[in-house]
Amino acid sequence: MKKRILTGDRTTGKLHLGHYVGSLKNRVYFQDTYDSFIILADIQALTTHFEDPKKINQGIMDVAIDNLSVGLNPEKITLFQQSQVKSIAELTIFYSMFVSVNSLRHNPTIKTEAKQYGYKDLSYGFLGYPVSQAADITFCNADLIPVGDDQLPHIEQTRKIVRRFNELYGKGKDILTVPEALLSEISRLPGIDGNAKMGKSLGNAIYLSDNKEIIDKKVRMAKTDTNRIHLNDKGNPQVCTVATYHKAFNLSDYGNLCEMCKNATIGCSACKKELADALNKELEPFRERRAYYEERPKIVGEIIAEGSRKANIIGDNMVLHVKDAMHLLI
Ligand code: ATP
Ligand code: MG
Repeated sequence: MKKRILTGDRTTGKLHLGHYVGSLKNRVYFQDTYDSFIILADIQALTTHFEDPKKINQGIMDVAIDNLSVGLNPEKITLFQQSQVKSIAELTIFYSMFVSVNSLRHNPTIKTEAKQYGYKDLSYGFLGYPVSQAADITFCNADLIPVGDDQLPHIEQTRKIVRRFNELYGKGKDILTVPEALLSEISRLPGIDGNAKMGKSLGNAIYLSDNKEIIDKKVRMAKTDTNRIHLNDKGNPQVCTVATYHKAFNLSDYGNLCEMCKNATIGCSACKKELADALNKELEPFRERRAYYEERPKIVGEIIAEGSRKANIIGDNMVLHVKDAMHLLI
């Protein structure tokens, strides 16, 4: 039997290059060898966007098409909508009984995001995000979770929940699988503004759906080594966002370009031009698939409905095991 992958995205907007290198590339790579579940995390989108549900609704379609456009094959993977799978909500409630509020409060990603959104008094749902993520991962007993590094504290929380559940209710048997995170080499792509993370809510992203003109323009705007002002100033690729992008998307030329930057034998605009060309080359096949799905929203809707149907069957079965272990069946 194939091992399982569970991964996905909050449906808060279109996906960007950070998602691609951080997670989507691995999803595509592993779709033949793992039984892959891709979650359209609309409930987790609500944790920060509950006042703007229309945006989340649009996000479901956008994120689904982004995933399909990079080459995930709906015949192989299960693409499903979180709010349609009721076992996820049930497991969230069960796990919430033995997760301490303090451990959630001290979760570094919760802290960073609370600050980013300016939250002082955290909502129950926002604080409980990692518990709901544990339910996403365990409803299908996933083994491997390809994610960016901001998700590591959440995966660690899931591992704790799983161990605790097995200890409390397993009677020596492991009911739930302890999952492993899978980080890619570039596990946190910076934003074009130089911010440590390209984020879809941060306004510093190059989107998978951007056309050639937009990509060319955004790359021209991207932050480089701020100490390099004149063409003959020697640059430092270590502090240059464009250099990081070359490493992620143009690895064969990366070493050479770094040398040229350090010797001041290439200027930033020529280096950016090479990057824009490399990005456009990488994104070109995605654009064709995107056009296909954008013209056929009904097919995308059917893929999500079929994935959610399959996820429900697996999840309902898991909830039965969980309830049995918890002595809730009469
Ligand atoms: P939001 O700001 O709405 O939370 P996000 O850009 O953080 O959006 P998510 O949907 O929360 O996106 O994350 C989806 C997946 O993409 C996660 O595994 C996350 O770690 C990964 N990811 C997001 N941004 C980056 C990035 N800049 N570099 C690498 N991986 C990333
Ligand atoms: Mg996020």
